[in-house]
Amino acid sequence: MRASQMRWVVGNWKMNLGPQRSISLAKEIAALKIPDGVQAWIAPSTESLMSVAAICKGTKILVGSQNACGEKPGAFTGELSVPALKEIGCGFAIIGHSERRHVFGESVELCAKRAIGILSQDFKVIFCVGETLEERRSGRTEDVLREQLRPLRDAVPPEQRENLIIAYEPVWAIGTGIVAKEEEYTAAHNIIADRLANININLPILYGGSVAPNNFDSILRAHNVSGGLVGGASLDVEKFETLIKLAGALAN
Ligand code: PEP
Repeated sequence: MRASQMRWVVGNWKMNLGPQRSISLAKEIAALKIPDGVQAWIAPSTESLMSVAAICKGTKILVGSQNACGEKPGAFTGELSVPALKEIGCGFAIIGHSERRHVFGESVELCAKRAIGILSQDFKVIFCVGETLEERRSGRTEDVLREQLRPLRDAVPPEQRENLIIAYEPVWAIGTGIVAKEEEYTAAHNIIADRLANININLPILYGGSVAPNNFDSILRAHNVSGGLVGGASLDVEKFETLIKLAGALAN
């Protein structure tokens, strides 16, 4: 466990909820007590961002998007600009989620370009990396992580480092109920920390992949884990609250 640090609990609602259900969940989450040292963030789907950001305004909940464009506003059909996100009260973007990479074909270069462009506009990025089961089985986990991080290494200047967070999400653990073993995620987090040490020696690295109330405490206690990126369990306010309390018990 890291000696002194913030703890993140980040909910990724994916494409699960329409505006009405997003608004009611956001109201419940906005009413939660967030302990000192805990960063409780939520990423609703795009059509609900404005309403959810309005509900969370003035609370400790930070609202962000599940993707965003690194370019300045202009002719980019279907994309989401950083100034627009700031205008509606959002504070971060998730980039390179495995569903973007593997379902929608976003390449290593595109994900990195998004992240670098967003960071340059003074906005927080949760940059997701992770290997598929096939890549792990063929012993390529380290190569995959290094490759996904390679473009960031030399492109993020020191003044932007505070805005970069990495989420290690083994693809085979996302939404499957299978949690990576501690030795698997701590090894991956060490590779990530080593790879980006030139940017930030205290880089926050979150684990994502079937995080739930019954496994989060031990994940948080592991070396080099700063919190969790949570899909399924973030859609249930009681589970999300439990994750926040577990993070609060270890935050300082
Ligand atoms: C995710 O959405 O990034 C995720 C890890 O999902 P789940 O917690 O459902 O595995």
